[in-house]
Amino acid sequence: MSPRGKLYFMLAGLLAVGLAVIFATQAQPAALTSPLAIRQGEVRQVEKALEFSVATATSTDLADLEPRPDLGDAKARYLCLEMKQQGNDEAGYGELICPGGDDTTVGVTPTGEAVAPVAEDGVVEATIESPESGTLKVTIPLAELGLPFGAYEFRFISSDGSCGSEPGDDCVDQLPGDGGADFTLQTPVMAGCSGADGVEVRSGPEDRKVVALTFDDGPGTSTGEILDILKEKRADGTFFLLGQAVEMDPETAREIVLSGSEVANHSMAHDAFPTSADLTATNDVIEEVAGFRPCSFRPPYGSVDPPLTGRAAGEGMNTVLWDVDTEDWTDGASVDSIVEGAKLNARPGSIILLHDGGDARREKTIDALPGIIDELRGEGYRFVTVSELLGNEIKWTVPEPSDDS
Ligand SMILES: [Zn+2]
Repeated sequence: MSPRGKLYFMLAGLLAVGLAVIFATQAQPAALTSPLAIRQGEVRQVEKALEFSVATATSTDLADLEPRPDLGDAKARYLCLEMKQQGNDEAGYGELICPGGDDTTVGVTPTGEAVAPVAEDGVVEATIESPESGTLKVTIPLAELGLPFGAYEFRFISSDGSCGSEPGDDCVDQLPGDGGADFTLQTPVMAGCSGADGVEVRSGPEDRKVVALTFDDGPGTSTGEILDILKEKRADGTFFLLGQAVEMDPETAREIVLSGSEVANHSMAHDAFPTSADLTATNDVIEEVAGFRPCSFRPPYGSVDPPLTGRAAGEGMNTVLWDVDTEDWTDGASVDSIVEGAKLNARPGSIILLHDGGDARREKTIDALPGIIDELRGEGYRFVTVSELLGNEIKWTVPEPSDDS
């Protein structure tokens, strides 16, 4: 515990909004006169965002804080949250997350080498508020941070830049006083989806650099491997499921949901122009494993007409086609051609067609997927579900932590 004062530490599981870790210091020692002395700090996960609040001795002007400080620089002035992945020893991935400059971004400096950073330039979107003088409340989408889900140690750290030749206790503060506190980032799970316009779409809005990876015809033999890649790469996908395949393998369908990806309707048995009864039956089967009814429908073979779009609308779904066909399903495709196809054709808002279904292992798709993600991420793209891309209303839950997590 802190040598400077009694540390209050509380761990609270908040249903549906995630974990909060709240702690505060009491009675700062007289020696610590830094205006950035940290009085209180809190970290929580709210659905798909990391949120932290930090209170300092006096109010702080964001313009005076460095978003990407060099902690070894005695003159650096910063107020940061440090997150360090647990269980990976020295190689553990971590990030130093620092507000500074303006109230719409934070600086992110990766620490550790286990996982490549999502934010290549070190600046990510955030919302920064000051609910009261001396307090900053920072909210950052998890997709921006790219922190893998799991156990972390965290601490708040600050310096007012008045250190002598070497940084020391008289100017640098941290909370907790020594070591860090535990925090677990849980995988947010989709629990509901509504607000689809019931229209035909081939891509989403072009105003954000995001794309949706979509996988058709599953669940199948390849689905588990594809989920592993998405998890490893910290990307979400959307799986257009066949009702019959879900009935045969409900566990894999459930795994898709628990991984944080989206499940959607691809008819019961891949018949062209499915009936309303078929669409309803497919949603019934999916609801049984997912706990919610899909709001996206992909027509088998991409065959669509206004009556079919109307039937999907009647079920509360958009009819979702694609603007990027990787042709991963063709005999002529190679791993390189699939990656290149995605890279050359993806635009902001793109919906990318891939396949995970069937009994045969989708070798080329599986081998191409890491390259697709790396190439597009290198161009600054993030990977969201179709409902996120289209702006549907999504309900997320964060499962209660289990004892072994
Ligand atoms: Zn299909």
